[in-house]
Amino acid sequence: MNSDCLFCKIINRELPSDIVFEDEELLAFNDISPQAPTHMLIIPKVHVATVNDLTEADAGLLGKLVLRARTLADENGIAKSGFRLVLNCNGEGGQTVYHLHMHLLGGRQLRGLG
Ligand code: 5GP
Ligand code: ZN
Repeated sequence: MNSDCLFCKIINRELPSDIVFEDEELLAFNDISPQAPTHMLIIPKVHVATVNDLTEADAGLLGKLVLRARTLADENGIAKSGFRLVLNCNGEGGQTVYHLHMHLLGGRQLRGLG
């Protein structure tokens, strides 16, 4: 828990969010500014700031993030049509919230990156 972190506050219900999944390790909620019909964020409950801060010990957690995103895609009817998973890292990667999060985007034709 990082008391200055927006997503830690969402985990602790200090800030409201539209939660779509929760277990002991992960939380998923709808993005406040959706860039596609489905736009969710899947986050670990442990505070990890960026991809740069991950260690070998986090390999299992990362796998669970991807598998949960896949399941949410399936539940939202976009597994077959297709979706995009995004992890932004630091300023030039477009990261604005410094608590690791995976974007799940889908429900429309997504274009190339950049
Ligand atoms: P980043 O740019 O760091 O990869 O993504 C941060 C994402 O968090 C953005 O898509 C932004 O819309 C979303 N976001 C920022 N603040 C909030 C919030 O208070 N609630 C929710 N649900 N999403 C947020
Ligand atoms: Zn945090």
